[in-house]
Amino acid sequence: MFTTTKVLLQLAEETNSAVAAFNCYNAETVQAAVRAGERANKGVIIAYGERYKEYMNLKAFAAFTKVVGEQAAIPVALHLDHSYELETIEQAIASGFSSVMYDGSALSFEENVKTTKHVVSLAHSNGVYVEAEIGSMEKGDFSDEEEGDGRLTDPDEAAWFVKETNVDFLAASIGTVHGMYKGKPNLQHDLLAAIAKKIDIPLVLHGGSGTPEDQIVKAINLGIRKINVNTEVSLAAVTEMANALSEQPYIHLSNLMTTAQETMIEQMYKIIETFKG
Ligand SMILES: [Zn+2]
Repeated sequence: MFTTTKVLLQLAEETNSAVAAFNCYNAETVQAAVRAGERANKGVIIAYGERYKEYMNLKAFAAFTKVVGEQAAIPVALHLDHSYELETIEQAIASGFSSVMYDGSALSFEENVKTTKHVVSLAHSNGVYVEAEIGSMEKGDFSDEEEGDGRLTDPDEAAWFVKETNVDFLAASIGTVHGMYKGKPNLQHDLLAAIAKKIDIPLVLHGGSGTPEDQIVKAINLGIRKINVNTEVSLAAVTEMANALSEQPYIHLSNLMTTAQETMIEQMYKIIETFKG
């Protein structure tokens, strides 16, 4: 069924688990996420980022995801990941996304608060939920995200921000990176505990790729309810595609994309199972 991010986050809270938010930008990624969710019998969030707009038409993507979601045996929600332009947020709201992430992390704190408030009023008046990020994550290997400065979330600042802006869920920067880690992953669980103590809305972890299972489970037990995954799935798919191409250089595109989709289903299924906590 096609549902909202809010419903999936509530389910995650009730079951002390985290819902996987997979970055999706074409038919294969959406179908893989939904089929992996069905195999694991757990809902999934389809997260489309502003940076994919040129490649994949936002409105068409939303319509496609809605149909796939409606046919699914599990709850499926559509979320707008990292967005910097109000125009994209407006398009997402008009196209059926149930939640949007406004990323004002590159702005001054004051500007971020001001613009986030505006996004919240716009979204809430349309029944859409808002995710924001306090702190800024570094970029690791193989990521297509914007570069951040690695600033960790300050619990007091985050609590003030949530109260002031009325956002619905918050991404905290606690040591994960966008993409694959260059060094050893080291999540700041004490910091997460301090943040969770001061904030009563669902917490989000970006940069799930390559984070060891025990560190993920510990974060879930401390209140992480949504985990974003992108690079790890992409890497698995392109590795398999490279293998297929080396064996059969002129493989039909449909067969190559089927290979990618099957690989992503396997990878996403394992991730969803881990996020059950
Ligand atoms: Zn992110």
